[in-house]
Amino acid sequence: MTDTRPAVFLDRDGTINLDAGYIDRLERFELYPFAIDAMRIFKQAGYLVVILTNQAGVAHGMYGEDFVATIAAHLADRATRGGAQIDGHYYCPHSPDAAVPKYRVECECRKPKPGMARRAAEELGIDLGRSVVIGDRWRDIAVARAVGCRGILVKTGYGATEALRPQPGLSADAVCDDLIGAAVWLLDHPVP
Ligand SMILES: [Mg+2]
Ligand SMILES: [Zn+2]
Repeated sequence: MTDTRPAVFLDRDGTINLDAGYIDRLERFELYPFAIDAMRIFKQAGYLVVILTNQAGVAHGMYGEDFVATIAAHLADRATRGGAQIDGHYYCPHSPDAAVPKYRVECECRKPKPGMARRAAEELGIDLGRSVVIGDRWRDIAVARAVGCRGILVKTGYGATEALRPQPGLSADAVCDDLIGAAVWLLDHPVP
């Protein structure tokens, strides 16, 4: 297809905002100071920006899906006011050991499973081969590998620790200090 666009799939906690454990109220949601700048770079470089986030806090009954939506709306507003744009927002509320029975499922969306990226690609018309996943966990890189994207590990959040624990059979295309570093790397390494 010729009308598909590349996307930057962004993890949320530890990648665009401080990973403050379970973020269960808006006051605990703190964007990194470079997050909106990075998203604006992705937009200007022609990428859709799509959030893919595991939110097991929902499964554990710590907050509801409505709160995940509240954060998403807040984030979208910050992005547009900063000249950036969030084109899609996907989250997994499930966990195999969920406290809330309806979320206790072996789903296909919880990273490292690639369900969210696949669904986004279908719904938004994304060219996965020209896309990239950016996150602070190896499970984010696993999603990249599963769908044929490039994968960038950022050293914010859990990333500095993750970088010290290489995973057999799994490597990132780049390890960057943070999201703005990943944006610069992407500009330096366009897909031909
Ligand atoms: Mg993360
Ligand atoms: Zn799920």
